[in-house]
Amino acid sequence: MNLIFLGPPGAGKGTQAKRICDKYNLTQIATGDILREHLKNETGLGKKAREYIDAGNLVPNDLIIDMMRYEIEKNRSKGGYLLDGFPRTVTQAEALDELLNDLNDKIDVAIVLNVPNSELMARLTGRRVCPSCGTSYHLIFNPPANEGVCDHDGEELFQRKDDNEETVNNRLEVYTKETKPIITYYEKQGLAHHVDGVGTVDEIFNLINEGIDSFVNN
Ligand code: ADP
Ligand code: ADP
Repeated sequence: MNLIFLGPPGAGKGTQAKRICDKYNLTQIATGDILREHLKNETGLGKKAREYIDAGNLVPNDLIIDMMRYEIEKNRSKGGYLLDGFPRTVTQAEALDELLNDLNDKIDVAIVLNVPNSELMARLTGRRVCPSCGTSYHLIFNPPANEGVCDHDGEELFQRKDDNEETVNNRLEVYTKETKPIITYYEKQGLAHHVDGVGTVDEIFNLINEGIDSFVNN
């Protein structure tokens, strides 16, 4: 089974992706996490991508498509995967279809997490992330058991540089302009399943599971 998670920054894609991957034994392929590794390791891609990420703009399609071709080919031998944060433009969605076609592979369902902008700002500015395992917490909505450290590995949490109000505003605009149109792209293929992303993490997890079951078992 191969899944896509769509939705604006802060919708809860990463939070839910980790749980869904555990449940169905999928590999999470999160473009943002992969790009931040490239930044940290100062690879060629990392050097090219930094200015876009810091400003909350999308990294150019050709760089992302090359990166994802490599990641999908690398991970598919392990079984199913969950794409978190890709595709983010119609050009990327078309490139993904071509790649899947070449690999004789397919997407089973695209889960669309819907959350209003007013809630997204609060979620993103209060987000804190584990540098080691990537788990997202929230200062108020989803705090760790011990303040400032990850429940899983005790690492000190940090705030992403792009989770400030100004950059978040730009990321939300970029989402509306460039990413939202791909929801229609997947609706036309009969692959989109909308989920209300407001509620507790458990409630949303259950809705996503129902959505997956309705696509995969029919
Ligand atoms: P995305 O990967 O879509 O950007 P995250 O999973 O990182 O989103 O979640 C963004 C922020 O919102 C994090 O601080 C996370 O702890 C918090 N969060 C996730 N799910 C919920 C929820 N259902 N209600 C409130 N806050 C949430
Ligand atoms: P969020 O969890 O808030 O949705 P991500 O971690 O997925 O954010 O992405 C962080 C940044 O990485 C984006 O603002 C963008 O600059 C870059 N990025 C991630 N995925 C893509 C993509 N598919 N295409 C272009 N840029 C991307």
